[in-house]
Amino acid sequence: MKGWPKLDGNLILVIEIVLMGALLKMNACDQILQLRGADHYMVAGSFPISQFLVPFFEGFETETLITFERIYWWAHITGILIFLNYVPYSKHFHIMLAFPNTYYSNLQPKGQFDNMAAVKKEVDLMMSGDPFATPAEPPADAGPPEKFGVKDVTDLTWKNLLDAYSCTECGRCTDNCPANQTGKLLSPRKVMMDTRDRLEEVGKNLDKEGKPIEDGKSLLGNFITEEELWACTTCNACVDACPISIDPLNIIMNMRRYLIMEESKSPESITAMFNNVENNGAPWAFPAADRGKWIDELN
Ligand code: SF4
Ligand code: SF4
Repeated sequence: MKGWPKLDGNLILVIEIVLMGALLKMNACDQILQLRGADHYMVAGSFPISQFLVPFFEGFETETLITFERIYWWAHITGILIFLNYVPYSKHFHIMLAFPNTYYSNLQPKGQFDNMAAVKKEVDLMMSGDPFATPAEPPADAGPPEKFGVKDVTDLTWKNLLDAYSCTECGRCTDNCPANQTGKLLSPRKVMMDTRDRLEEVGKNLDKEGKPIEDGKSLLGNFITEEELWACTTCNACVDACPISIDPLNIIMNMRRYLIMEESKSPESITAMFNNVENNGAPWAFPAADRGKWIDELN
């Protein structure tokens, strides 16, 4: 990670160390004051971690310790309140979104893809084995054809967008991605970060203009390239590795659907397979009439 994601991560780390340091030191002072019977410091039990800091404060006067304890208390509480304002602008927002995101995660078996109803109907007719079947006519009152797949963040589902804002950028998905491990351009973590970056851009345009505008950019192309999309093996390792059940594969698959169904773009090997399915009813380059010939070769 470089640039803002790295700075964001470092800022969060430093702020949390400072806040936790203030809390632990406050408790260490508190423990000594309790044992000395200082006013308003009731014996409240043990401090399992802060007790190790007690030796650093034992030599101070009671009045000085009270001042320290108050300073650490105010530093911690004001730090927390300031940090809470920063959280929604940072990747640390996952502390709020991780729970709902996991609750709404996809419980279908991994690898099970949703069918597109309109496409499935056509394919059912094509593959029915009825030589007289023709593709279904759309009903008279059918609206304009729906858009297939995903080109920009506005085509994504609310769950895809929640995924993007819930991502902790931990990189477990990319570490487990076989495409990434074998030197391909694809990184599922980057897919999620790109989705969030593009969503931020669209949101800023909306705030500025008061309505959706065409800025000449899209998630597919300007942020995520075709090379990245076709490097994916659809193995689901990224989904399996994610601690909060984020699904980068869903975004990748729907972008591929857009490329194939809206722009007729696919790698050569896949195009050959499509042609074979269309012409021969099977992915292989042999006509249906020749399928039984392997038996002759055995005889
Ligand atoms: S499904 Fe695609 S992106 Fe995810 S780990 Fe497998 S190859 Fe990588
Ligand atoms: S494993 Fe999940 S949380 Fe971590 S970077 Fe990947 S998508 Fe984000």
